[in-house]
Amino acid sequence: MTESEIFYISGEPLTVPDSALRLHKDIVAELRVLLECRTSNPLDIGFRSGFEKVLSIYDAYQKETLIANGKQISCRAGCSCCCAHWVEDVNSFEIQIIVDYIKKYMPRQVGEIIRTCKEDIAAMENLEKIVDEKLAALDTQAEIDSSLLLLSSFYQLERPCPLLTSQGQCSVYSVRPVTCRIYMNLSDPIRCSTSNINYGEVVTCVLDMQEEANELLDELHLKFRRGGGCSALRAGIWEELNGTA
Ligand code: SF4
Ligand code: SF4
Repeated sequence: MTESEIFYISGEPLTVPDSALRLHKDIVAELRVLLECRTSNPLDIGFRSGFEKVLSIYDAYQKETLIANGKQISCRAGCSCCCAHWVEDVNSFEIQIIVDYIKKYMPRQVGEIIRTCKEDIAAMENLEKIVDEKLAALDTQAEIDSSLLLLSSFYQLERPCPLLTSQGQCSVYSVRPVTCRIYMNLSDPIRCSTSNINYGEVVTCVLDMQEEANELLDELHLKFRRGGGCSALRAGIWEELNGTA
């Protein structure tokens, strides 16, 4: 076993077994091929199939790591309160792939998705002002992470992702972004509830790829970035669907 670069929000760290590290090397190799491809369109078939390969190797990497650590994911279809998070760090090409999927397979929902994204963006902007004002008025020397406070406050608004169905399913599951794939719970799902977000014992885990793969993903993000280049899911989708990207 080798020391991992898996990032826990809380809970004990995991270690990555050699079998998963070998898979990680394959992820890195595939990402390098994608970076070298000449296309400027992430919807090109070659890019799409290469990225799907990356995701399927990542699934295997995730499984190997969890098995080696004797862990099981508690996440199940229909369990979805985590989808009320303000999802960030979505790569530009992932947003374009998701929007292409929405236009192809869910054309009737486009209007509703644009409306909900817009409302959520307004709610986030409003919250940002409130958090700034409250922090400015606080008479304390303690260091407070304002972005973390903002994100946990948004979560407590319980505004589901505009891509979540009324049955609690991700409507773009096959093309959901990496940032949703790496987030999981290894304990009781009740711990994900919005009322528990500020308690230290919440055992949600971010089983991320390692540094080299993440750097390559960042390079790919920059390569395909357009418009405002927003990497928040709701804002990015709104930009793309509204034709402002
Ligand atoms: S992270 Fe929590 S809320 Fe989300 S699917 Fe997993 S157990 Fe359910
Ligand atoms: S994209 Fe899918 S998995 Fe991610 S937050 Fe939205 S509904 Fe949930």
